[in-house]
Amino acid sequence: MKALAKLKAEPGIWQTEVDKPQVGPNDVLIKIKKTAICGTDVHIYKWDEWAQNTIPHGMVVGHEYVGVIEGMGSEVRGFSVGDRVSGEGHITCGHCRNCRAGRVHLCRNTTGVGVNRPGAFAEYLVIPAYNAFKLPDNIPDSIAAIFDPFGNAVHTALSFDLVGEDVLITGAGPIGIMAAAVARHVGARHVVITDVNPYRLELALKMGASRAVDVSQQNLKDVMKELGMTEGFDVGMEMSGVPSAFRSMLDTMNHGGKIAMLGIPPSDMAVDWNKVIFKGLIIKGIYGREMFETWYKMASLIQSGLDLTPMVTHEMPMERFQEGFDIMCSGQSGKVVLNW
Ligand code: NAD
Ligand code: ZN
Repeated sequence: MKALAKLKAEPGIWQTEVDKPQVGPNDVLIKIKKTAICGTDVHIYKWDEWAQNTIPHGMVVGHEYVGVIEGMGSEVRGFSVGDRVSGEGHITCGHCRNCRAGRVHLCRNTTGVGVNRPGAFAEYLVIPAYNAFKLPDNIPDSIAAIFDPFGNAVHTALSFDLVGEDVLITGAGPIGIMAAAVARHVGARHVVITDVNPYRLELALKMGASRAVDVSQQNLKDVMKELGMTEGFDVGMEMSGVPSAFRSMLDTMNHGGKIAMLGIPPSDMAVDWNKVIFKGLIIKGIYGREMFETWYKMASLIQSGLDLTPMVTHEMPMERFQEGFDIMCSGQSGKVVLNW
């Protein structure tokens, strides 16, 4: 079958032929319809230090997808051939303390689809049936294809009560923008999002942010004044991984504020802990999606009218994958979807 794989230890991704994956007794075989390119795929494409240390030679990458179940192992219950599914890309162990307690998103032995095991940029994908998520009919394929990053946004945004709150989101990447849309949808008051990329700030406004601030041009504190905010943000979502963005968040949070951190900073990011202590801030790290509570919330949010359509800014046949990666690398896009 055709697939996109990391065939060389250098920047790039290559189309190739690989064997159709074997289906184990607890697995489902998914015929892939659409995939989306994730920031992680871009790291693998660019072959940065993390990718060099993580991705085995020849790995078929990709973990954002929608497809249809075409086969399944003898032990699988609750799915049928023909079910339209997306899937959770974190494969959990099932035997650590958190897995056994039902806190599966906190599994300490997670492996990643398209990172540590063959991924979704292929005609077929095999995952444990446990990880498949059956999609309601009224969720379009292009939206289902971005459920994985949408789940990062939903998991982060729903970590704290947002109703009537003033929210700061640093980083208007696809995940930050979707988090802004969720915050607006569930009833936040001001949803202020920051970035240094005008294209993405524009998209954030379209998706419901009340203010989109280019921090290379404008001071966040001036914007707060304009909005009549006299104290500070109640909830922060760090979605850039950029230390200066996190520092601006610590500066502008109200006392007692709550911060959810999804963006991955350099490991040695310096923080003025006095701000955390004297403001009494609560900081929560976010990894992946809650299994499977986040997935149910995602489906419900879409069914309750949250419109993610503008997020998919580019869609093309998989043969044009190079163009897709070029667009993602340029930063001039929301999500880029490849049709298989
Ligand atoms: P992205 O790289 O597309 O978005 C990051 C955005 O931050 C970009 O638009 C960039 O222009 C912006 N930025 C740069 N400097 C900034 C500044 N000074 N202030 C504000 N914004 C600035 O990434 P994404 O796919 O939207 O993901 C968001 C972050 O979450 C990334 O750091 C990614 O690595 C991380 N991530 C974490 C998880 C997890 O499970 N914790 C999962 C997926 C992604
Ligand atoms: Zn586990």
